[in-house]
Amino acid sequence: SYAFGEEPMKDWDLKRREWLKLHPSFAASEEKVLLVTGSQPNVCKNPVGDHLQLRLFKNKVDYCRIHGHEIFYNNVLLNQKGTGFWAKYPLLRASMLAHPEAEWIWWVDSDAILTDMEFKLPLERYKDHNLVVHGWWNMLYEEKSWTSLNAGVLLIRNCQWSMDLMERWTSMGPQNPDHEKWGKAQKSLIKDKAYPGSDDQSALIYLLIKEKDRWADRIYLESEYNLHGYWLGIVDGLDKISKGYMEIDREVDLLRRRHAEKMSLFYGAMREKHMKDRGFWKENVRRPFVTHFTGCEPCSGEHNSMYTWEACWNGMQKALNFADNQVLSRFGFVHPDLLNSSLVSPLPFDFPA
Ligand code: UDP
Ligand code: MN
Repeated sequence: SYAFGEEPMKDWDLKRREWLKLHPSFAASEEKVLLVTGSQPNVCKNPVGDHLQLRLFKNKVDYCRIHGHEIFYNNVLLNQKGTGFWAKYPLLRASMLAHPEAEWIWWVDSDAILTDMEFKLPLERYKDHNLVVHGWWNMLYEEKSWTSLNAGVLLIRNCQWSMDLMERWTSMGPQNPDHEKWGKAQKSLIKDKAYPGSDDQSALIYLLIKEKDRWADRIYLESEYNLHGYWLGIVDGLDKISKGYMEIDREVDLLRRRHAEKMSLFYGAMREKHMKDRGFWKENVRRPFVTHFTGCEPCSGEHNSMYTWEACWNGMQKALNFADNQVLSRFGFVHPDLLNSSLVSPLPFDFPA
C-alpha cells in the first residue's frame, strides 16, 4: 500500500533496480534530485498568504530550472491525520515510488527560500549517507537541543533504508494513537522543545539519541553551509551581502576583460577564487544557501516574542527579492530596493551578470 503503517515497503532497493533495468531511458544517476515541496490544501486565511506561497514556489522553480532538478508541488494531505510538518513523510514515500529514477528526494519547506541560486548541493560529500539535514553533532549529543538540527529542509536517498527510517519516524506522529505519549517522551529528552505535541524534528532527535546505533551512521549533519539557516540571523545582512557580490562581480568582470585571452576559468569559479583571496568567504558575507522562515506562525500570532509579524513580512520580501535578483539580473533587471517587491530597474548592457 502507498500509506505508512499499513504495509511497510520491503526490498525497495531491489525493486528500484529492477524498475531501472526495465526503463533504461530513465538513466539513473547519483546526481538526480527531485525537489518536493507543498502547502496546505485550503485557502490561506490571511489575504497575503497564497501570494507568498506563489513567490516561495517561484523561487524553488527558478532554482530547479537553473540546476536541472525536477520539482513536485503537493497541496493535498496524503494522510488525513498527518497535518503540518508531518504532511511531508507520506509525500516523500510516494515521491520515491513515483520517481525511482531520482536518487535523492530533496524536501524544502514552503517557508524556506533558496537564497544562493548558484550554489550546488555537494552530493559527492553525501555518498555514504542516506539522510542529510542541517545540524551539529556536539550540540545534539551534549545539549540535546531542539535546534541542534532542522527537519524543514532535508535530502533523503531513494532507498529501503529511508523507507525504514520514515516508517519508524512517523510511528511517533499523529497517525499513531500513542502520539501524545511520544510528545511527552520527546519533551522529557529535549528540554528546549516548545511545541507540546510530538513533532518530526524532535522525533528525529529522539531517534538519533535513543536509537543511535540503528540510524546515526547514515545520517549526515551539515553545518559547512546553510542547508537551513534561521531567517532572523540572516535578513538584516542581505543588503550588505548583495553589495559585496556586486563589487566582486565588477572586479572580476574587469579582470576578465583585461585578461580575456588568458582566462580559462569558468566565471563562477573565478569569482569564488577571487572571494577566497580577499577573505570574502566568511559568514554574513557569503550568500546563505537557504533562509528558512517560521511557517504560518507570524500570521497566526503563535510566534515567539523575538520578532513581529512586520519583521517576518519584511524579512520575507528581502529574502525573496535577494534571491530573485540573482535570477532577474540574467534577464537584465534588478530590484534596486530589496524591500520594494514590485519595483524593478533595467541594468546597463555591460552589467556583469
Ligand atoms: N505543509 C504541507 N501541507 C500542509 C501543511 C504544511 O505540505 O498542509 C508543508 C509546508 O511546506 C510547510 C511544512 O510542511 O512549510 C512545514 O509545516 P509547518 O508550517 O507546520 O511548519 P514550519 O514551516 O512552521 O516549520
Ligand atoms: Mn518551515
